[in-house]
This record gives sequence, C-alpha cells and structure tokens, in this order.
Amino acid sequence: MRKRILIIVIVIIFLLMGSCIGFSLLQSPKVVLKKNTFSLYEEIETKEIISVQNGKLLKSEKIVTDKLGEGKLTVVVQDRWKRKKTYEFEITVEDTEKPTLTYKKEWTTEIGVKIDLLKDVKASDNSKEEIQVVVEGEYDFNKVGEYTIYYVAKDASGNEAREEAKLIVKEKKNTTSKPKVPSQTENKTFTTSKGFKGEIKNGVTYIDGLLIANKTYSLPSNYGNGLTDATVNAFNKMRDAAKKEGLNIYISSGFRSYNKQNTLYNNYVARDGKKEADTYSARPGHSEHQTGLAFDVNTISSAFDNTKEAKWLHQNCYKYGFILRYPKGKTNETGYIYESWHYRYVGEELASKLYNNGDWLTLETYFGITSEYSS
Ligand SMILES: [Zn+2]
Repeated sequence: MRKRILIIVIVIIFLLMGSCIGFSLLQSPKVVLKKNTFSLYEEIETKEIISVQNGKLLKSEKIVTDKLGEGKLTVVVQDRWKRKKTYEFEITVEDTEKPTLTYKKEWTTEIGVKIDLLKDVKASDNSKEEIQVVVEGEYDFNKVGEYTIYYVAKDASGNEAREEAKLIVKEKKNTTSKPKVPSQTENKTFTTSKGFKGEIKNGVTYIDGLLIANKTYSLPSNYGNGLTDATVNAFNKMRDAAKKEGLNIYISSGFRSYNKQNTLYNNYVARDGKKEADTYSARPGHSEHQTGLAFDVNTISSAFDNTKEAKWLHQNCYKYGFILRYPKGKTNETGYIYESWHYRYVGEELASKLYNNGDWLTLETYFGITSEYSS
C-alpha cells in the first residue's frame, strides 16, 4: 500500500518536472525593448536597450535618431530550436530640448533713438534648424524708462527658449561735443538783402568789407590771436576820455580763442541746457570775441546797465569807433539778449551810423543779414 503511494508520488513528480521542462522548451523567446522614445541625435547602442529571454539576439538595426517622428526597429532573435524570429518595435524620436539663446542682457539708448534689439542675438538648437528669435514685451523708445523685454525662440517641436533682458531708455544727454563749424570753406561772394556785398574769404565772412561773426557766420577754429591793434588803440582813447569824466572803464574779457569758447560754451550747456545757453553764449567759431574786435567791459552782468560807466559808453562809444553790439530789444536781430557790457570795434564812420542818435541799430539790420544757427 505504502509502496503504491510512493510510486504514484514519484510518477506525479516526474510528470510535473517533465511538463515544466517541456513547457519551457516550447516557450518562444521574450524580447523587450527597454526604451522606445529617443531624443534627437541621441547616441544609442541598440544591444543595450534590448533584453531577450528564451533566445539569443542575432541581429538588430542601428537606431536612427537624426530624424524626428515615428519609426520601426527590427530585431532578429533565435529561439532554443535555432529558429529565427523577427520582432518589430515602434520607436519615436522626439525633440525636447529648447534652443540656446545668445543675447545681450542690457541695452541702453537715448530717448527717440531706436536700436536694433536683435543685433547679434542668435539662437542655436539641437535640431540644427534655423531658429527665428523674436522680441516680446512692452517698450517705447520715445519714453524714458526701464523695460523688461524677452527673447523668444521656438524650434519646430515647440520647445521654447525665453530669456529676460533689460532695455533702458535714457534722457537725452546734453551735447558737450563741438558743434560743427558750418562749411564756409569755399570762397564766394553774395549780396545781402540790403544790397551790401558779402564775401567769404578763407572761411571768414566780410560784409561791405567788415568782418562779421554771428550765429549765421562763423570763423575758422584757428582764426585770431588777440585784440587787434586798432581795437586796443581805440579802446585806450575811449578809456582815457572816460577817465576825464571820473569814470573807470576796463576790459574784463577780450579775445577768446575757439578752444576757450568751446570750453565756455560747453560749460554753459551743461549748466543751463543748449537752448538756454544759445541765448547768451556763442557756440565756438561764432563768438565775436574770437574776432579780436570785441570785448566785455567791467561787470559782465545786467547790474552794469545801471552804472554811470554804462550810460556814458552807450552815448559816447561810437565816437571811438565802437558799437553797442547787442542792444536792448534786438534779440531777434542779433540772436542775443541785451548785453550792456559788450562792445565791438567797427570804425568811427559805421559806428556813427549805427548809433542812430541813441537808438542803436544792429549790424544785422543795417547790413540785411541774419544771425541764426543753421541747426
Ligand atoms: Zn561779450
């Protein structure tokens, strides 16, 4: 009885073992692709991502990742009975990398001056495609402020790079650079609106033979080297005559070179702005002080107007060949505000005409010329 049972058990064990062995021998190979999505241009060793059970990997294609989209991978496996079996897998190549931007983090400009915010801005991408960069954000070149802008670049797979940058729009700087000396390089003659003959010779303008320097007519930067003898001699006579009346007249500012005037003017511009400075200070090349024929006397301020010296000069300077160059109320003729302290030598004959019985005429009106900057 016991023996029979033992035999049955043994037979069952053998049957179980046999079926197990048989089953496993019948089983087809199991091929698993561990990964089926790849990045663009990813380098893959196909063998490393395939696992094979119950068989042997015979052949596998190289996984091509240089093209976006779906594809197939064919794998050939040999089973235990040396039979070849082909497996096909779906694979996907996708791009998940965003482009890389090369850009400037901060831009600075002056109000009203547009700049190309895309200058030297570049995007590169793993897809090797040409990527367009666009600027986003609100900014206004015509309004002072600090703006946040964004450089945006998108590749064909929709991967977007977005980088923040700053745009600073500043107030206009005061111009401290040298204003351009108008080109009076060509020698030429012309006729003024009052019929006087004008002549430009070596960059210097003469009207009816008289040297003119105002806002319209300039002098070359190398012109002049001090007050002319005629000016000094005439001044001395005038000063001596004033002395006899108990008045003290002295030159407080005489000849000024182009460079000196340039410094002076730029300082005024820095202090008061160009528009304001132009009403009382000449731009370099346009100052009468560079002619060597003009000077300022005593106190260079409106306070001088109330002095006995000022009153005497206004009534008597013409006798010595001087004119009150920038009379009261003649700003739109001379281009300058009233300067009771500024005198110009023109010779006795012309000075008498301009004196006009105390109602001073300007050189501009007398000759029929302008005194305006061209820009
Ligand atoms: Zn002056």
